[in-house]
Amino acid sequence: MSARYSELTSLLRRAATLRSVGELLAWDQETMMPAKAARFRAEELAAIAELAHQRMTEPRIGELLAECEADLALVVDPVVAANLRDVRRDYERVRKLPPDLVAEMTRTSSLALEAWKAARAADDFSAFRPWLERQIALARRKAEAYGPPPGGEPYDALLEDYEPGMTAAQLEALFGPLRDRLRPLIAELAAGDGRPTALETLVVPQERQRELNRFVLSRLGFDLDAGRLDVSTHPFSSGIAPGDTRITTRYRDDGFLDSLGSTLHEAGHALYEQGLPKDDGLGLPLAEPASLGIHESQSRLWENQVGRSRAFWTWALSEARRILGAALDPFDLDDFDRAVNRVRPSLIRVESDEVTYNLHVLLRFDLERALVRGDLAPADLPGAWNDRLHADLGLRVPDDRRGCLQDIHWSMGAFGYFPTYTLGNLYAAQLWGAAREMLPDLEPSIARGDFSLLLGWLRREVHAHGRRFPAGELCRRISGRPLDHAPLIGYLKAKHARP
Ligand code: ZN
Repeated sequence: MSARYSELTSLLRRAATLRSVGELLAWDQETMMPAKAARFRAEELAAIAELAHQRMTEPRIGELLAECEADLALVVDPVVAANLRDVRRDYERVRKLPPDLVAEMTRTSSLALEAWKAARAADDFSAFRPWLERQIALARRKAEAYGPPPGGEPYDALLEDYEPGMTAAQLEALFGPLRDRLRPLIAELAAGDGRPTALETLVVPQERQRELNRFVLSRLGFDLDAGRLDVSTHPFSSGIAPGDTRITTRYRDDGFLDSLGSTLHEAGHALYEQGLPKDDGLGLPLAEPASLGIHESQSRLWENQVGRSRAFWTWALSEARRILGAALDPFDLDDFDRAVNRVRPSLIRVESDEVTYNLHVLLRFDLERALVRGDLAPADLPGAWNDRLHADLGLRVPDDRRGCLQDIHWSMGAFGYFPTYTLGNLYAAQLWGAAREMLPDLEPSIARGDFSLLLGWLRREVHAHGRRFPAGELCRRISGRPLDHAPLIGYLKAKHARP
């Protein structure tokens, strides 16, 4: 390998090393940090972010990049060529943001986040509105600095941070037909009184729940010597560094299925992080996830296609009985199947089932796109939210706390993030369909508690590539077709068809 390419990769590794220090500080903030440390932690994080930004924008990177791109002996290697393509993309992009805008976005986000927490607790949208207006103005400035793609709109430039190559128009074409098919499906499936089953609210000591989560995690193939499972209010995962991937879950005495579901979701993210070629490639695009949508496909696949399947519970029921004890005696496989697959429209996105979930996301996509375009005034957000939720899920929103104030994203200025949740569900269904075709023993192996067939397949088809292929191309390579709503709708219909 050329000396220039080696120097380039070591500069990128230096920048990635600082980012990983920031990740570790952020993990600590969510899990261990005493409350009074919050103000200084913000300074620490800002200091690291500034240094990392400096390292990523170093002119030397630009020089080396240009020399490597011109080196024909180097670019003939497709892996190197893919790395150079994305290093160029990232380098140009990060340099388009003026440092004062970056600083203002960081400051505003940390203040707006606190304002949002207070406004949500007090159910007071008017207290959050000025912060929302500032965040929208900053998002527009950011979109202008990046510049939308030819023929595109400002929202596309924001989306590019999370789902490279995707546009609002493409999302609209994917999401419109999805919404048209989900609404009648939900009307059909959500019959019944909607109350949780006895299994869903069964009281189980949290220590036992923790043991079950850890047992399942290790059986899935999560390397606990290269990671951790901890507790936080909002479960998350963090691929901090080579050999260090951490996830969290949450516990309630009467919520062991929720805790296991969260663990499976975050485990999916974590297995992806543990499967990326970071040891040698830290800092290079090919050691990074393809997109947030692909990241979410991994979490959703383990949480839903695996964790809500009859095959999974065929194995897991006896293990759950062994670990959780006699409390489970009255329940059989059918009870588990029903409990994890109950469809019920609800107000809160993060508590919703796998069928109604996407309508929550589509609502947010349409509203945030209208906010960025200026078609929707921030003052009109609560009304627009409530009307849409009623149209889609038939529910009246009693207060903004359970309406437009429920999510953290807009307070952090993360416009363009929400669509990646539904993209994740679409990619997951399409990948799952491909896995079932290619692996005849897939479901029998899961029913035996052997997850190595599925994990090995994901490692080969998805994880090992990092960002080598854009998300849409990766999906097409694996499944043989472009991303589409049909596999998700087909999967949901097949699973929920009752004899
Ligand atoms: Zn996720």
